[in-house]
Amino acid sequence: MQKTLARFEEYRETVKKRASKLQKKHPRCLADGNELLRFYGTTLACSLGLNGSSSLCISDKCCVCRIIRNGFSSKKELKGGVGVFTTSTSGRAFEEPSATSMVRKALIVCRVIAGRVHRPLENIQEIAGQTGFDSLAGRVGLYSNIEELYLLNPRALLPCFVVICKP
Ligand SMILES: [Zn+2]
Repeated sequence: MQKTLARFEEYRETVKKRASKLQKKHPRCLADGNELLRFYGTTLACSLGLNGSSSLCISDKCCVCRIIRNGFSSKKELKGGVGVFTTSTSGRAFEEPSATSMVRKALIVCRVIAGRVHRPLENIQEIAGQTGFDSLAGRVGLYSNIEELYLLNPRALLPCFVVICKP
């Protein structure tokens, strides 16, 4: 966990540094790397949270424990190889029903460094020829709230707490 925090802060500095070199200034990126609070929907294979159990398991199949132990580092969390998929609301975090009823669903609430967000609705020409975006907005809702956000670098996420859903 300590290592994940260090990586997260390191990543924030990288994003801030990159933002400072851009002609067009992004005040939020310069200030804190554009930190947001996001939901990550995943599954749990152990008894964490049951009867007050708070010990993490070491199963590789248990996504919650693996992420809390190691952060978002494995390729498994990069959706379609693009990035780590996060949502602004808990309801949207689960797209597909889980394969078996044996697994329990959980939400990991994360602090994320969104950095420069590539918004699909923004002027395409502005995007063309510019690289170095840190995240991609999937669906953008009313009032340009980013409902779905892909973090391109798994270091951009810091798991904060876990909400275990009732089966
Ligand atoms: Zn577990």
